Amino acid sequence: VKELVENAIDAGATQIDCLLEQGGRNLISITDNGKGMTQDELNLAVERHTTSKLDDDDLMHIQHFGFRGEALPSIGSVSRMQITSRARGHAEAWSLSVEGGVKHPPEPAALTEGTRVEVRDLFFATPARLKFLKTERTEQQHAVETLERLAMAHPEVGFSLKSGGRTLLNVPPVTMLNAENARRERLGHILGKDFTENALSVSHTRDNLHLTGFAGLPTYHRGTASAQYLFVNHRPVRDKLLLGAIRAAYQDFLARDRYPVLALFLTLPPEEVDVNVHPAKAEVRFRDTQSVRGLIVGALKHTLAEAGFRSATTGAVTALSAFRPGGIGSASPGSGTYTSSNRQSIDAAFRFQSPGGIIPRQPALMETVPSAPATFAPSEETPPKETYPLGLARAQLHETYIIAQTTDGIVIVDQHAAHERMVYEKMKQAIAQEGIKTQHLLIPEVVEMEPKYITALAEQANALKTLGFVIEELGEKAIVVREVPALLGNVNVAQLARDIADDLEESGQALSLMDALEHICGTLACHGSIRAGRRLNVEEMNALLREMEATPHSGQCNHGRP
Ligand code: ADP
Ligand code: MG
Repeated sequence: VKELVENAIDAGATQIDCLLEQGGRNLISITDNGKGMTQDELNLAVERHTTSKLDDDDLMHIQHFGFRGEALPSIGSVSRMQITSRARGHAEAWSLSVEGGVKHPPEPAALTEGTRVEVRDLFFATPARLKFLKTERTEQQHAVETLERLAMAHPEVGFSLKSGGRTLLNVPPVTMLNAENARRERLGHILGKDFTENALSVSHTRDNLHLTGFAGLPTYHRGTASAQYLFVNHRPVRDKLLLGAIRAAYQDFLARDRYPVLALFLTLPPEEVDVNVHPAKAEVRFRDTQSVRGLIVGALKHTLAEAGFRSATTGAVTALSAFRPGGIGSASPGSGTYTSSNRQSIDAAFRFQSPGGIIPRQPALMETVPSAPATFAPSEETPPKETYPLGLARAQLHETYIIAQTTDGIVIVDQHAAHERMVYEKMKQAIAQEGIKTQHLLIPEVVEMEPKYITALAEQANALKTLGFVIEELGEKAIVVREVPALLGNVNVAQLARDIADDLEESGQALSLMDALEHICGTLACHGSIRAGRRLNVEEMNALLREMEATPHSGQCNHGRP
């Protein structure tokens, strides 16, 4: 499927239709409206090592998918293949078949301009290879994925795939002039609108390397790397160097077992990349690996920094649907403003369970009810003169979530996650600028722990020192903490030491020093930040919101939580 569809793209087709029977085992049929072949060209096309695509015998400047002239003869040698084609500007079509490597002469046929290749009984001539075909479903799924990847790289071409009477893919050709918009449209067709709404446009150039495409917000993550679509010179690839660069760019924002969703297109002069190292051309080799890696890491970090406090919208949708039976659904979604009538239903939704039963929302009383689970800012306050992207704090729920009102919506902030990111960003900045400032403890704190934790801490003592956490071993069962990072403020030193030891012990020795540093940094930030469960007053909440607006990456904590 891949080879035949690539041939159709090479032939300049704008519509390519695929049909499978039994996952391709019985029939693979690919029809295109490309430039077609004359009788002579058809005759040549199925011969070994014939290709029309190396105009000047230059293997360094490969612009087409094909260039080896091997696909058609190979397919013809293991199946019953029939190619019907009508060359552009010619009145008649010709058809030629190859069965198990035996070629039959071309015959006149009927077809509109373009080419149809039908492959029946794949591997009938080579039963040993037939055994290696996976189940119908699996093979069909591989075909869908192959076609999706090619479709992402070629928005101007329409693609369809039918199998067993079902349409599995159908994307119309996108005819927009603006390449970025066209790509966004096509990615939306394939990956869904959720992706395009939660992705950032990437566009970076360094020397003769260009990186474009869309990178998902860190909070829009997946459990595997399978939704990372990479293309080099429009060719779908799965390349370790590129995947590693993506990992590096996102490592500050995601837990180790979560993966971003993205579609990235790298273009570079053909002589800078060897696509000939892998039979399916899935892996490539770059001449200058350092600058490719540098461009990708740099471009992604830059793009993510511009996202600021943005988080994925998908969590909000789930959260909102949970509210619906309570009546919030009656507020017309997307209207952006809340009128006084739907205000009532919001008020109704904001009733809280407490040991004493349901407490109706009564802002004036709220502060004085001892067990009140929410703190409300006085709502009759005069409307703010300035508008802030994250709005003004209106309430705190469960001593964990800050609810803020913006001009056209509401924002819910997880105070712990937000503070964790801010502490982390400050630490990174401080380390980059002057090394971290520490605070000497007047009375050094002795913390007792199991020997394995002491060992873990002792091994990383130098790394910890760089981060402002200065410890000494005190025999086998205790450490002394002498200094802590100043920006953590008034922390519970013993608790902090135990938490770090826990994390170090758990993540083991495998961490490289750099990994360890970042890991410790994240751990310090996490354990040193305002915990969920602390009540904040209105000023504190607003201060947190304003600081979030000024902090890079404040849309997620270090583990990808929004
Ligand atoms: P390659 O793509 O490496 O040139 P192939 O065996 O895939 O080798 O194809 C051989 C030749 O057949 C191509 O170079 C091209 O000239 C011709 N050809 C194959 N498929 C098509 C098609 N769908 N439309 C027009 N020409 C085609
Ligand atoms: Mg080819």
